Amino acid sequence: MQPTTVHKKIYLSPPHLSGAEMNYIKEAFETNWIAPLGPNVDYFEKELSDYVGVKESVAVSSGTAAIHLALSLLGVGKGDIVFCSSLTFVASANPILYLGAVPVFIDSERDTWNMSPEALEAAFKEAVLTNRLPKAVVIVNLYGQPAKMDELMSICERYHTPIIEDAAESLGSKYKGKASGTFGEFGIYSFNGNKIITTSGGGMLVSNNTNAMKKARFLASQARDPAPHYQHSEIGYNYRLSNVLAGIGRSQLEVLDSRVQARRLIFQTYYEELAGLAGISFMPELENTFSNRWLTALTIDEEVSGVTTDELLAALEQENIEARPVWKPLHLQPLFNNYPYFPHKEHESVSDYLFQKGICLPSGSNMTRQEQMRVIDIIIKKVKEKNNA
Ligand SMILES: *Cc1c(COP(=O)(O)O)cnc(C)c1O
Repeated sequence: MQPTTVHKKIYLSPPHLSGAEMNYIKEAFETNWIAPLGPNVDYFEKELSDYVGVKESVAVSSGTAAIHLALSLLGVGKGDIVFCSSLTFVASANPILYLGAVPVFIDSERDTWNMSPEALEAAFKEAVLTNRLPKAVVIVNLYGQPAKMDELMSICERYHTPIIEDAAESLGSKYKGKASGTFGEFGIYSFNGNKIITTSGGGMLVSNNTNAMKKARFLASQARDPAPHYQHSEIGYNYRLSNVLAGIGRSQLEVLDSRVQARRLIFQTYYEELAGLAGISFMPELENTFSNRWLTALTIDEEVSGVTTDELLAALEQENIEARPVWKPLHLQPLFNNYPYFPHKEHESVSDYLFQKGICLPSGSNMTRQEQMRVIDIIIKKVKEKNNA
């Protein structure tokens, strides 16, 4: 069906430039630092380290590359097991396959929509029985909401397994006052165009393990041995971020706090306008955590609201508004058909429920109030129409 109006498209999460990016880019051009290294890269790494409070950061070409490096640094290789959140974007788990390792997917719980400590514990118990303990656990912080890190970390510590925190969506979020992404042995952020800040494409690996980060720089730049004649004894990657893009990142980092405030305000507005509708529940914010609210997500119980997620998504699309279902869990993806999955409870898969009932609403920090009211009006209209039918 054609859109019935010619309203400007409202995107889910478009880039939002600060306006100062060109200053850094211009400087890179004027000094001819048009390379995957240079002063913008050094400053961007330092500035991000200071912002989140880690010893070191390595800027790379994507969040996916950062996960790949983190897994490599933890020695993940062929046939090794890696536990990974199921309710996430495919990039959390693809690097496990790059290394020939075996992903085991862990369900979510309802308080954060993130990894369920119960399911993680069950997976570890089974791993002990079969003598197949994981080499690493990838914990995702979905839509900006930090996972239950205390519970998850204490389980991982008990089994001596390091954590990689996938904070691609949660830069600027906090768990008990500490920056999301800084809890594991490694953390990763993404600066893809749809994330809370962007370099058009890029990522960051962070850690307090300075030795490992030295190795990360080595692996990310083709693993060149210290010799003048280009000698290599290990597989390396070409994963460094360009100095031009790091310039965009520096400028974006300056406005990160205001982007977080804007996204939280957008959440608040949706909440105030829609939480009263029967059958609609918003993604929670766990006590003692601070979500950047990268995307506003909610579930719709059609038994109560009378509207299915598909009907609501279709109504929005018809008005040129981009909304999306919650991520399809990885254990349901054809790509990962043959890998094990541990649900929250034996007969309860929370990620399946969230996928069936959940949608993400337009949440860009540059969305105007008027645009947001358009989205809200359509949702209210649709729910009322169904209830009066
Ligand atoms: C975006 C994203 C990534 C990957 O980041 P890229 O920079 O796009 O490679 C990884 N994990 C999650 C949860 C993401 O949302």
